[in-house]
Amino acid sequence: MIVKILGAESLGVRGLSCLVTLKNRKIFIDPGIALGWSRHGFLPHPFQITVGKSVKTQIIEELKNASDVIISHFDGDHCPLLHPNPYQLGIGEVKNSLSRCSIWSKGPDHCPPNQQRRREELAENLDQDLPRAEGIKEGPLEFSFSVPHGQQGKEENSVMMTRIEEDGKTFVHASDIQLLDAKTIESILAWQPQIVFASGPPLYHYSASSFQIQRENAWENAIKLSQKVDMLILDHHVLRSEEGIAWLEKLKHTTQNNVFCAADFMGRTPVFLEAWRKDLYKWLPVPQSWHEDYQQGKVDENDYRIRGWKFLMDSGKIKLCKWYDTCPMKEYTDKGILERCWIENYCLVNNKNCIRYKMEEENKYYPDNLLPNGEIRMNLR
Ligand code: SF4
Repeated sequence: MIVKILGAESLGVRGLSCLVTLKNRKIFIDPGIALGWSRHGFLPHPFQITVGKSVKTQIIEELKNASDVIISHFDGDHCPLLHPNPYQLGIGEVKNSLSRCSIWSKGPDHCPPNQQRRREELAENLDQDLPRAEGIKEGPLEFSFSVPHGQQGKEENSVMMTRIEEDGKTFVHASDIQLLDAKTIESILAWQPQIVFASGPPLYHYSASSFQIQRENAWENAIKLSQKVDMLILDHHVLRSEEGIAWLEKLKHTTQNNVFCAADFMGRTPVFLEAWRKDLYKWLPVPQSWHEDYQQGKVDENDYRIRGWKFLMDSGKIKLCKWYDTCPMKEYTDKGILERCWIENYCLVNNKNCIRYKMEEENKYYPDNLLPNGEIRMNLR
């Protein structure tokens, strides 16, 4: 079983999308993305938009080979939409891929009306029924009954969790549970997973003292979960603020167990772009009319893409791969014959899963045109 996380706050976007590759199936969970329409009165920064575009492209590419698609619920950062905003994933962009997959989605019960509408729109556009998957077991897959999107007492807004097992290894995807409900944590533990990927608490909503109980519940549940599974990956709501980033660090040190954010799990440096949004506007100012111009196709965001990564490098927010200066991937990118996404997803974020990096560490020969994911690109010399 190989788990690859594509979209989450520590990877620069809102979402909890991942691909689980088994011997005979490729299972995509929560194919959606968003950037958070407004934070601190700011629209998504153009640099965030460029990172979001790159993540969206990866989601679209990976969906082309998926055998199964799971949708935990129909919030706009977890599913493709009929009417996406410019930073979300549209049904039209993935319709062909979804039409070829088995789709396992949360049913329409205990959902707000906008989620029910999105579900109907997806079914209509794919021209197929979307049976409710809650409680179903099929081969390596098992789906929970509805659990609260957050705390108990909010059952009108619920999500579906997924368990995947192969060769004695069990992975659980627990979207948007926010670690607020003890019964949901018990349900996860009853599944006896080794790896859990879940949403942490939305601390940025908890500034008032009346939220103390939510804070305490989330902390207690995080400790409990981390002590009983081999690997706990927490991301999403919790990493939308500096306070949440510090909360996760404290959890890592308190439990001494394997607690990660999605970026840690993927072997790379995190980029908490939503938590840094206000600072991004300070670091790289944006003209007032930029977003309107962008929506009308009048501005190109690429200038922010290059300056944004450069700023993160120069300021020490990200750590480069130690081989970057001499690596042919840099040279090919500088020459304009290799897409920038390769250095952005590997070299600039010190991605230890780079095949070139691994071979270098093992002192093994590899050709110059070997890409970080192991593919050979014939046109590179
Ligand atoms: S391609 Fe791999 S080895 Fe080369 S700089 Fe990038 S991450 Fe490092």
